[in-house]
Amino acid sequence: MGEQKPLYIKVNEKDNVVIVVNEGGLPAGTVFADGFTLTGDVPQGHKAALVAIPRGGNIVRYGQVIGYAAHDIPKGSWIDESLVELPEAPDVNELIYTPRHEKPQAPLAGYTFAGFRNPDGSAGTKNLLGIHTSVQCVAGVLDIAVQRIREELLPKYPNVDDVVALKHNYGCGVAINAPDAVVPIRSIANLARHPNFGGELMVVSLGCEKMQPEVVTEDNPQASIVRLQEEAGFKASVERILHEAEKILVRLNQRQRETCPLSDLVIGLQCGGSDAFSGVTSNPAVGYAADLLVRAGATVMFSEVTEVRDGIDLLLPKAANAEVGKRLLDAMRWYDNYLAKGEVDRSANPAPGNKKGGLSNIVEKALGSIAKGGTSTIREVIAPGERPVKKGLIYAATPASDFVCGTCQLASGIHLQVFTTGRGTPYGLAIVPVIKVSSRSVLAKKWPDLIDVDAGRIATGDATIESVGKEIFELIIDIASGRRQSWAQQWKIYNDLCLFNPAPVT
Ligand code: CA
Repeated sequence: MGEQKPLYIKVNEKDNVVIVVNEGGLPAGTVFADGFTLTGDVPQGHKAALVAIPRGGNIVRYGQVIGYAAHDIPKGSWIDESLVELPEAPDVNELIYTPRHEKPQAPLAGYTFAGFRNPDGSAGTKNLLGIHTSVQCVAGVLDIAVQRIREELLPKYPNVDDVVALKHNYGCGVAINAPDAVVPIRSIANLARHPNFGGELMVVSLGCEKMQPEVVTEDNPQASIVRLQEEAGFKASVERILHEAEKILVRLNQRQRETCPLSDLVIGLQCGGSDAFSGVTSNPAVGYAADLLVRAGATVMFSEVTEVRDGIDLLLPKAANAEVGKRLLDAMRWYDNYLAKGEVDRSANPAPGNKKGGLSNIVEKALGSIAKGGTSTIREVIAPGERPVKKGLIYAATPASDFVCGTCQLASGIHLQVFTTGRGTPYGLAIVPVIKVSSRSVLAKKWPDLIDVDAGRIATGDATIESVGKEIFELIIDIASGRRQSWAQQWKIYNDLCLFNPAPVT
């Protein structure tokens, strides 16, 4: 991009700032094609004033006020973070639900994917043997058993994609009756119902743990439970796990992919390591893909409370009705209280790396993050680890932490996750495919075997939000159908399950 002509991005007609695209930034005196001239040096990804902004005047990006000018800002100068005064966070107790829905776009008919049909009517994007746990005590033994299953049993059952041990640090030494314990317990129970396990259920338990395996198996009378304290030591435990696992493998191996409507598909979205480009390249492109998915009948879930909290006044009008709006505000209020208990405040976000990338404050970061959800109406708001009952665009109120959000969305039943990143992460999940979208071309070139889609081409004019959005949409369908694999799948890069446990550990 160094040789490239000077480029800037203006997101919304109302914006009075633009973002410098060129790698290494642009010097004072740079004249853009439309005659706009920089009066000072501006780093890449940072903002330049399109007009003179008086002290106290609105700084507008994404068509929204992201802050107020701390001093008079001359036209053409760099607006660094010290010039942007942070607006108050929208008060969830004062916001009033006033619906403002985009005119619905025409449904997209005829899109399907090749999935595994489950007995309960849902469909999977993988055919996995999942072995669940009711407590961390069994994890070491299960690891050894899983290694043997992979080596000795899986080759006999070629239609089964893999075996996954669902290990976590919950189950004992925790206050399972605390009000907030509902979050990890619900998450574990819903993980056990994940559609990629074909309706099969096997749990390895110790025996004496606080959270008994029935929490996971109560809806499934066919479930197999192995209690290690009932077995005759280590070797017998491993043999018993292999024996139970093989019975399930025989059944899973009979399954084949079949044509399923896109309405069977639930796609999770999240971001990590954002920069100023995330909100103009990767996130809007994913938002475009999200709109296509919703139009084709699929369910799309976006999350990360701390990433949307400062833009909640923009999300609220997108709620389908007053009840959904109330649920959205309740979710924000719950998280405000949770953070307050930990004596944390929102100025801790964005991270220094975000600021270096040009994000002045949490408002600007939130506006960029919200773009992922696209323009659809929010049909339902769910708590962490809950299952949606509606289709279409869903807000799942999870933490922003990559692995915690990932685990919560898995519990909520996603079949695939799309992950946007500016700084880069190798992140992946064992239960569902993860597609990684970079906000900048520099990252995609540096990590050609980790980044699946380069949305940085939007900033340089080599692609459009629509073209990259369409590409992501088609890639989702191909990967969900098992026709292609994301890089994280090819390398089997799997992060641990990290449950969200807001309740005490004892
Ligand atoms: Ca995240």
